[in-house]
Amino acid sequence: MRAIVLHRQGDPLQLGELSDPEVGSRQVLISVSACGVCRTDLHIFDGDLTKPKLPLVLGHEIVGTVRAIGTAAERFAVGDRIGVPWLGWTDGECRYCLSGRENLCDRARFTGYDIDGGYAELVVADERFCFPIPADYPDEQAAPLLCAGLIGYRALRLVGDAERIGFYGFGASAHILCQVAVHQGRRVFAFTRPGDDDGQAFALSLGAEWAGASGEAPPEELDGAIVFAPVGALMVDALRVSAKGARVISSGIYMSDIPAFSYELLYGERVLGSVANLTRLDGDELIALAPQIPIRTEVSIYPLEDANMALEDLRAGRFRGAAVLRIGGEAS
Ligand SMILES: [Zn+2]
Ligand SMILES: [Zn+2]
Repeated sequence: MRAIVLHRQGDPLQLGELSDPEVGSRQVLISVSACGVCRTDLHIFDGDLTKPKLPLVLGHEIVGTVRAIGTAAERFAVGDRIGVPWLGWTDGECRYCLSGRENLCDRARFTGYDIDGGYAELVVADERFCFPIPADYPDEQAAPLLCAGLIGYRALRLVGDAERIGFYGFGASAHILCQVAVHQGRRVFAFTRPGDDDGQAFALSLGAEWAGASGEAPPEELDGAIVFAPVGALMVDALRVSAKGARVISSGIYMSDIPAFSYELLYGERVLGSVANLTRLDGDELIALAPQIPIRTEVSIYPLEDANMALEDLRAGRFRGAAVLRIGGEAS
């Protein structure tokens, strides 16, 4: 199969031929049709996340068609269209797994990090961690739901029932979660890089009530915030404009250091927190909710061989919404 491979962190991905993966007993073999490009991929590529398997096929927002199933696999049939997320495997027996928090599993394995991912024509995945894809979503539009959507959705839940919610960094995840939050009756205040007029207009077009630059004060205090951008100082910026009781949640797997700040900013039962990974329950909920809203994803599509360009465009903020690699199958 064709795949684009990370051989060493920091080096460009290399297009090559790999042998087709073999399907394990609880696995499915999937013909990949689309794979989203997530900021986490950039953190793996750059070496911010230090323990990937190498060589590695990146990609954990995978949509494709089941081509073969393992001897003990039973959830899907050949021909089904399914999605593969970041959470690729858990042990099912640690204290986290046993308490409904498999996202924190001590031995969790992640797609496109510990397990080869979807920047390839074929991928194998444990069927227990895959999701059916709603029929009304073309492959490329569905892909960003699988991480930008799912982990953002978990972050939104951790913010609690905040009515006035701030989104710091309006990329792939925020553009999905803005639609969910507005659907839930919340009021969204979007913060972008200073001067990103296009990003601010994009946020307003998706239902945000206000959009401005990250250092700016919104017209009202926030009851909660999600910090999507991997910039620790934004956690403090969000606290500074938050009402008492607000929860400020980082949704990224990596963030630069959070600068010291006065306790006064935290006092008043404000909470700083983080979200890690996803549970299958998060996925089931968002996948069911997406067509009801309906969530519309805006995607920039790249061929597999341009994965390096997609990563650099993500770094530079050159597109709105999400980047997706189109790999096999028909254009949809
Ligand atoms: Zn576990
Ligand atoms: Zn991701």
